Amino acid sequence: MKEETRIYYKCSTCGSAFSDLITAKSCCVCIECGKPAPKRKLLAYCDDCLPRKVNEIEQARFEKAQKVDYKDYDVGMFCVGDEYFEDVEELGDQFECVIGEEGSPQYAWACVEKPFPVTVGSIHDMISECCGEYGYEDMYERVRFPEGFDKILNSFVKMNSHLKSFEADFTRVVIFDKGD
Ligand SMILES: [Zn+2]
Ligand SMILES: [Zn+2]
Repeated sequence: MKEETRIYYKCSTCGSAFSDLITAKSCCVCIECGKPAPKRKLLAYCDDCLPRKVNEIEQARFEKAQKVDYKDYDVGMFCVGDEYFEDVEELGDQFECVIGEEGSPQYAWACVEKPFPVTVGSIHDMISECCGEYGYEDMYERVRFPEGFDKILNSFVKMNSHLKSFEADFTRVVIFDKGD
């Protein structure tokens, strides 16, 4: 019997295996400067380049975004980085300042309101996804939800339908008044 040999290349830093040498060599290397860098999901950036890159993306977004005066902004929810704030007080607390004062953040990303994202159907989907995640795909098929289960889900959804969810809207940026 002929034996098949598979050649693969390992990243010398993290040991991940790749079928080609170039990908292996660029695995834990900053794509900006070539210095060693931790692998992050898709692209690796070193600790020097990452903040610069994040900043570049932020700058580009900011330039393109529609500028909205704080007094004209009616959603009331803000996003900075990947955090959300319910109002300017909360935002100020985070940065240990009062928004509008010298040295406080001059802008925050606007948000859009989304309806309560949960429906009876989406709860069913969540349950089946969980089953799949733990390798119980067939379990979902076999499970019979107790009688009245959907009724309970239904009232749960109704009970929470007043809840809102928010998502950052990077096409609009809220500009705070400097107070001068
Ligand atoms: Zn690696
Ligand atoms: Zn770098």
